[in-house]
Amino acid sequence: MDLPPDLIFSDAFIDGRWTPADDGQRFGVTNPAHGETITAVADLGAAQTARAIQAASRARPAWATRTARDRAATLRTWFELILAHQDQLARLITVESGKPLAEAHNEVAYGATFIEWFAEQAKRVYGEVIPTPSPTSRILTLREPVGVVAAITPWNFPLAMITRKCAPALAAGCPVVVKPAEDTPLTALALAALAFEAGIPAGVFNVITASRGDTVGLAFCQNPAVRKLSFTGSTAVGKTLMRQCAENVTKVTLELGGNAPFIVFDDADLDAAVQGAVASKFRNGGQTCVSANRFLVHRDVYAAFCEKIRAAIVDFTVGNGLDHGVRQGPLINAQAVDKVEDLVNDALAHGAHALCGGTRHALGGNHFAPTVLTNVTTDMRIAHSEIFGPVAAICQFDDEADAIAIANATPYGLAAYFYSRDIGRVWRVAGALEYGAIGINEGTFSTEVAPFGGIKESGIGREGGHQGIEEFTEIKYLRLGGL
Ligand code: NAP
Repeated sequence: MDLPPDLIFSDAFIDGRWTPADDGQRFGVTNPAHGETITAVADLGAAQTARAIQAASRARPAWATRTARDRAATLRTWFELILAHQDQLARLITVESGKPLAEAHNEVAYGATFIEWFAEQAKRVYGEVIPTPSPTSRILTLREPVGVVAAITPWNFPLAMITRKCAPALAAGCPVVVKPAEDTPLTALALAALAFEAGIPAGVFNVITASRGDTVGLAFCQNPAVRKLSFTGSTAVGKTLMRQCAENVTKVTLELGGNAPFIVFDDADLDAAVQGAVASKFRNGGQTCVSANRFLVHRDVYAAFCEKIRAAIVDFTVGNGLDHGVRQGPLINAQAVDKVEDLVNDALAHGAHALCGGTRHALGGNHFAPTVLTNVTTDMRIAHSEIFGPVAAICQFDDEADAIAIANATPYGLAAYFYSRDIGRVWRVAGALEYGAIGINEGTFSTEVAPFGGIKESGIGREGGHQGIEEFTEIKYLRLGGL
């Protein structure tokens, strides 16, 4: 396949072939920085989703029975091709998602690490030999690939959310059919082109582009050939998919929404806390599932912390992520801006104070001003909804028990953060917070080597770490008798 220099493709990728929609339908992919259409992409429906699943089913036996070493070598080539095309992929991510180019570069490197890691882990999918209760028998377990995997991904990390689930699936021996977000299908198609170039066989990695996510989702869940659904996105959609998967008892991994608390104790290193707060809150304009959503700051350091975070972000250059020096790009679309504006206005109406920002940015379009809100209280809507925007909403607390109680008073349990230099407090609070991942004196923690995932309504299962590949395997128990 000849790869275009900009890696822009506009048809879906099924069974090793670029595939337009049967009915010729397409949907526009726009650049959120100015709303211009980048290209129009094939808009597939249920029938073509079924064909992609069939293609994956056909490809499954050969891929599953290759040696782990062989699959690992192919994945390694994909990893290297991605890094060789880092600039083109980063530009694609920026033009379709809006994030600044430097962040997009980081995403390519970060996303690629999942392929490198799981290529290595492919060779370490071990079974067990278990001491038997009978002298004439032996007990063994094998870990086998679960089968065809369907993956549905969001727009906020158009590359990394795909590699984080597809690399372990492929490494385990499972073919994949991915449906990327409607807003960001181009990075997914570029990944498919590079996967094919790397030698991943036809049918093993397929990309369905679609504007009707619900139609494709249902087609995944209702198809008995799909043995596992891996979803990253909102909790509401995750619940729908889980209900739909119940019919065939299809296994699920769900990486869902969060409401991350970021607690600053009075013994914290305040400058480090501000640095971590900016990284956690303002990366990708606050549009990450692990973005700090509620800052809880001890009353004795409240004023100082608020002023320091204001000073750190007030001069952010906002604009088109492709432009040099831009620190904050646009939000993904107009609805996202409406939602952030609504939450901020509600907080202001109930007594919050904007230390900076608090409105749409003067540039207009999808841009929102970097914002710090003080005097936020836990009963405000902004403290309960996922903000997904560049808004630090800062509440006060009185003591440790108070902070823990506020932090845990949510149905979500994805990421939490706290800053403290008291070793006793560090262990107490880490134990008491009901979250799947906790940054302690760290504002960012995503890495391919650690298991990432949520508890409560933030999800099921883990991605990354040695656990990530196990999600795509089944345990088979063998009992050998008559020995
Ligand atoms: P979303 O609306 O749930 O969409 C996610 C994906 O699901 C998209 O591909 C979307 O397609 C598809 N979809 C929508 N409705 C569907 C349905 N009924 N059936 C099947 N698929 C459907 O979420 P989003 O707004 O794109 O992403 C932001 C959310 O993702 C936030 O809540 C964030 O916290 C969460 N997230 C979680 C993690 C994590 O690791 N826990 C990581 C990143 C993001 P369309 O684009 O066509 O609607």
